[in-house]
Amino acid sequence: MLTGRNLELAQELLESIRFFNQRGWSPATSTNYSARSEDPQKYLISRSGVDKSKFELSDLILIDSEGTVLAPYIRPGVKSSAETEIHTGLYARFPEAQCVLHTHSVLGTVLSYELLAQGELSFEGLEILKGLEGNATHELREILPIVPNSQDMSEILRNMEGHFASQIHGFLIAGHGLYTWGNTVAAARRHVETFEFLFECYATKRRF
Ligand SMILES: [Zn+2]
Repeated sequence: MLTGRNLELAQELLESIRFFNQRGWSPATSTNYSARSEDPQKYLISRSGVDKSKFELSDLILIDSEGTVLAPYIRPGVKSSAETEIHTGLYARFPEAQCVLHTHSVLGTVLSYELLAQGELSFEGLEILKGLEGNATHELREILPIVPNSQDMSEILRNMEGHFASQIHGFLIAGHGLYTWGNTVAAARRHVETFEFLFECYATKRRF
């Protein structure tokens, strides 16, 4: 059973998972979510294969930095998300990150698939950009890298390697979905909402 700070984090994550599901950003048991636990080397993460409209607190499990499921969650059928390695990889690269969120929206999927060849989406001049941590003005250029999809998570991380040193708040996997992170669960959730809004703006603009 989760207690104290871990329980609070799990509740915050659960609330965000339900919100994303209501928005249609986690169809068909897809997507995964995590938060750095009270012990910074352990993570709360969504377990694999759960319908996000039925997601419960008990579907959040603890793993270590290698992605190994920890007691008391070691039970037959309980597996960490298939994309766990991306979560642990992001925490290793961003020591301040407290939460990693991954959604599958229609727009994130289509835009990243169609625009993979250009390698990134860029956004500028929009007030919503201030939703991303550290952005104090709309007068900036926000880059969201796009990398090819793969069932090999280390390949996705390898393709992202050159981008991690720049000021990014997330990335898209082509034809797949969005990864973003933040220094709190609330910040990471705000990043998902900000990027989804930016995707809508981008797609709307292309229709003009
Ligand atoms: Zn995914």
